[in-house]
Amino acid sequence: MKKHLASEDICTHLGDEYDRYLGAIIPPIFQNTLFTHKHTDHGYAYSRISNPTIELAEKKLAALEAGNWAVCYSSGVAAISAVIAYFAANESHIICIKNTYGRVNQLLEHYSRKFQISTTFVEGNDPAEIKAAIRPETKLIYLESPSSLVYQMQDLEAIACIAKSHDIYTAIDNTWASPIFQNPLCFGIDLVIHSLSKYIGGHSDLIGGVVIGADMEMGTGFHEERAMFGAVMDPHLSWMVTRSIRTLPVRMKQHQENALRVASFLEGHPKVSQVFYPGLASHPQYELGLKQMSGYSGVMSIAVSGEPEQVAKMLKQLQYFEVGSSWGGFESLIALLPFNEKLAGEMNETISVSAPKSLLRISVGLENVQSLINDLDRALHTLD
Ligand SMILES: *Cc1c(COP(=O)(O)O)cnc(C)c1O
Repeated sequence: MKKHLASEDICTHLGDEYDRYLGAIIPPIFQNTLFTHKHTDHGYAYSRISNPTIELAEKKLAALEAGNWAVCYSSGVAAISAVIAYFAANESHIICIKNTYGRVNQLLEHYSRKFQISTTFVEGNDPAEIKAAIRPETKLIYLESPSSLVYQMQDLEAIACIAKSHDIYTAIDNTWASPIFQNPLCFGIDLVIHSLSKYIGGHSDLIGGVVIGADMEMGTGFHEERAMFGAVMDPHLSWMVTRSIRTLPVRMKQHQENALRVASFLEGHPKVSQVFYPGLASHPQYELGLKQMSGYSGVMSIAVSGEPEQVAKMLKQLQYFEVGSSWGGFESLIALLPFNEKLAGEMNETISVSAPKSLLRISVGLENVQSLINDLDRALHTLD
């Protein structure tokens, strides 16, 4: 797969139809439940099934990922569960990486108990480990690169190649990189998932999700299953997503610039024992990142030496960073992550984790970067 248009041009103008909408620079919202039968030759009948405003967001998202179709959902989790439900046939087996967005593992464990499906959780850093987990009944390999919590990467090209030779489908949660910095379909991955609630929405004012692919038959399948399950995205929300997409490339550029500055600063800070950020040359998989990503978003985690109680107190000192559990918006956020022995054990050996510590997730926003650095510096110095 190849992206036919530049991202900036897709974001700004793909789907413009000035003639159709009286020259309006922004297309109006089709905020309607149904379309009258006399006019169904346009192809629209009911907005759970299809709606022009939802389709405009889908058109831009598909093009941004070099896909042939996109299906939008009411949340990122609805998009993830649509993918899992699509492959959850009787007796099927799914391979999933360990450090995914938490609800993925939760859903897979729930489905494994409820239905005749099984899941193998893998580290994901080594394609050979994934290959070894394949069984005759394996249907799907589920990836998230960079992963949640510690931002480890999977080799997309190598894994897609292994999967194809075994007739297994691959899906990836690409929310961290956004379509601006990573296009997994170009490496042979079959399905891309985004939570639109993060960078694509970008303003912390919406919840949405999308699944994108190249194979048209599969696209029809996802479209039909969405009509059956019903987790469609609302037209008004789709309009907001399209609004947000128009500025996605410039926002991502600024998130990257700010985050690289913040990460380099934190890496040299005496109170920070480790920074987990794929944009740092010290990341153990830095080379892999260069191969499959064209840039880095603004989310990272850091290990600090204080106990969680002391760190929670430190967070109260921050003036620019709000404590909150999302990321990818214009605003800087920080959150204490559930870091424990289990997580430390699951981390790749190449990521050195020594001494008890707390793990913090930092989402670097669009504020003045020096203000952010000063803010973190001041607060971190309150730790022992
Ligand atoms: C937030 C998030 C999701 C879930 O998206 P919602 O829109 O909140 O349902 C999925 N994957 C990743 C990586 C996320 O950060």
